[in-house]
Amino acid sequence: MIVDDSDRSIRLAVGMLREGRVVAMPTETVYGLAADASNAEAVSRIFAAKGRPPDHPLIVHLGIGANLRDWARHVPEEASRLAEALWPGPLTVILERHASVLPEVTGGLGTVAIRIPAHPVTQRLLESFGGGLAAPSANRFGRVSPTTARDVCSDLGSAVDLVIDGGPCEIGVESTIVAFIEGEVTILRPGAISPEAIARVLGHPIGTTAHSPVRAPGMLASHYAPTTPLELCMPDEIALRGAELVSAGARVGVLALVRIEVPGATAIWDAGGDIGIFARSLYRHLRQADAEALDILVVELPPDEGLGVAVRDRLRRAARR
Ligand code: AMP
Ligand code: MG
Repeated sequence: MIVDDSDRSIRLAVGMLREGRVVAMPTETVYGLAADASNAEAVSRIFAAKGRPPDHPLIVHLGIGANLRDWARHVPEEASRLAEALWPGPLTVILERHASVLPEVTGGLGTVAIRIPAHPVTQRLLESFGGGLAAPSANRFGRVSPTTARDVCSDLGSAVDLVIDGGPCEIGVESTIVAFIEGEVTILRPGAISPEAIARVLGHPIGTTAHSPVRAPGMLASHYAPTTPLELCMPDEIALRGAELVSAGARVGVLALVRIEVPGATAIWDAGGDIGIFARSLYRHLRQADAEALDILVVELPPDEGLGVAVRDRLRRAARR
């Protein structure tokens, strides 16, 4: 059932969460499938609904003012600084877990992922609920993350009892994940909080595993994938490649940062030159490619900076199969 974001809906959702049920909630990144992080049975329902392997850890979402020390054994000074500067927001930090954090939440790891999201509806839900909400993205495992309440329903169907509709997600790609493990600071997943923004807060650049074969558990090379095959192109290649595929008889979709013409293409989408719009509408376009039964979606790789780093990361995973 989809409900609006009224106080009545929030009360209904909190009641269900306290009973150990799962609720889909909006965040500024993508929609999440939430359960009480202190209830192992409730958390197991997330994995069942998503069809997600149990060793894939979840992110614990907390309200503004929550105490990190209730969830992490140790909070490094640089983690506190990032939290102070960038929370609430699309940033997840990985810290050594507090002994009380359920192994079901952390996939059995010694670390825990924590985020304080900025979406006002998520914050109202967290504040009324009072505890932590474990939540991965509200999609079937390996599929494209949902950015509207309707996406959640079309993907999870009756596996989710309640979806709070908070409108389309403003950012549209998952949070930036920064790990603080054994004295090392690393970006495990790029997101709207750019490497440049993190470096500004910390006063030095930090490494990333985004393009290395070393991955966080749950960060599979093939992920966020539509059924439609993707072909990634540089800006100067896309028109020619689109035309080639059209003349080979394919139903071709084109997704570009700036509008281009590809005569005979089935669909042509663009982001008006705005990387924020590109990110926000990326998963919608991947879903549309499937809905239009395209043979192939040709996508322009945006510049490798700022939000473009996250968009390129998701495109690479969506193109892998
Ligand atoms: P999702 O919200 O669906 O992107 O899923 C949460 C993601 O957070 C997982 O896929 C992992 O990549 C990451 N994550 C959560 N907990 C940890 C952890 N303890 N260590 C490393 N990565 C984690
Ligand atoms: Mg996910």
